[in-house]
Amino acid sequence: MRQLSVACVVGARPNFIKIGPILSELRSRPRFTASLIHTGQHYSPEMSASIFEDLGLPAPDLNLEVGGGSITTQTAEIMLRIERVFLERRPDLLLVVGDVNSTLAAALVAVRHRIPVAHVEAGLRSFDRTMPEEINRIVTDSLSDYLFASERAGIRNLLAEGVPEAKIFFTGNVMIDTLLGSRRRAACSDVVERLGLASRGYIVATLHRPSNVDSPETLAPLIGVLRQASRRMPVVFPAHPRTRQRMEAAGIRQDGLLLVPPLGYLDFLRLMDQARLMLTDSGGIQEETTILGVPCLTLRENTERPVTIEQGTNRLVGTDPATIGAAIEETLARDLPASNTPELWDGRAAARIADVLERVMA
Ligand code: UDP
Repeated sequence: MRQLSVACVVGARPNFIKIGPILSELRSRPRFTASLIHTGQHYSPEMSASIFEDLGLPAPDLNLEVGGGSITTQTAEIMLRIERVFLERRPDLLLVVGDVNSTLAAALVAVRHRIPVAHVEAGLRSFDRTMPEEINRIVTDSLSDYLFASERAGIRNLLAEGVPEAKIFFTGNVMIDTLLGSRRRAACSDVVERLGLASRGYIVATLHRPSNVDSPETLAPLIGVLRQASRRMPVVFPAHPRTRQRMEAAGIRQDGLLLVPPLGYLDFLRLMDQARLMLTDSGGIQEETTILGVPCLTLRENTERPVTIEQGTNRLVGTDPATIGAAIEETLARDLPASNTPELWDGRAAARIADVLERVMA
């Protein structure tokens, strides 16, 4: 039987977290050869330093080292470099995850060269086209041959957009595969003690969406809410380089906050696991807190991950400081919620994806 070569293209932190289980699943099956291609989209050393080690990811087979730049420059540069790789290697399948620029850029080139595309985490929609990620999701899904959904809303959205049912597979959430597979190692992290915190005695905040951090008029009041919350209990703020840069440029006060650089995956998982409350605009964190049973207030008007609200611990609170402040008080006054497992968020998503690929590519 001929082996199938799968090129897995990743470019940013959430991608690495999702690709690990898929790569090891594909590599454990004789039917596949799988290569890991890093576009280098995330160039900040502090954000990529420990990620391979933390996740037990093998070194990438190739690093295209595209670096930063505007969305347009980055997308164009990834396309140029990935095209050379595809022409040289002619993979049987491109596999991409999530919604970053690398995902879209690789899919566009693959389609040009008639390389079938598999998209993991397909169908998620915030219905907010001002989000760059939403455009990446819509275009990637429309180009893909095999669409792997992490929750049922993804299937509904794809069907509503006219994607044939035969292309859609409900396989579950690979980010949760990684979480469940890492929880034991994360329990060895001393991050809580290192930061001088007590279990369930602190809040963790992350902000990086352009709509929240790009303009000081939006960012300053959000940081103000975090500073206000820090009077109740410590607020740890692992600041994305983009957010820190914006805060410093606009002279936004950060006193009261425990500002730390972005944390390695295992430290961050431990920090979330022991937190009393998460405040975030991240997509992945809404999902992870659902499994961990930690309350999550999402500082956005919408979410592409509705199951985290319907079944999980997530609540959308928007960006109005008074509303967020009231939601923080309410949440802290209540007991911790029970953790819940949405359908197929069971640590077996990557195995289901590999099963489907073995079948459909036979
Ligand atoms: N994360 C991390 N270190 C941090 C903050 C987040 O490892 O300091 C992890 C988090 O657990 C989640 C992922 O990064 O798995 C989410 O990444 P991000 O918020 O950048 O992207 P999004 O999920 O919004 O696409």
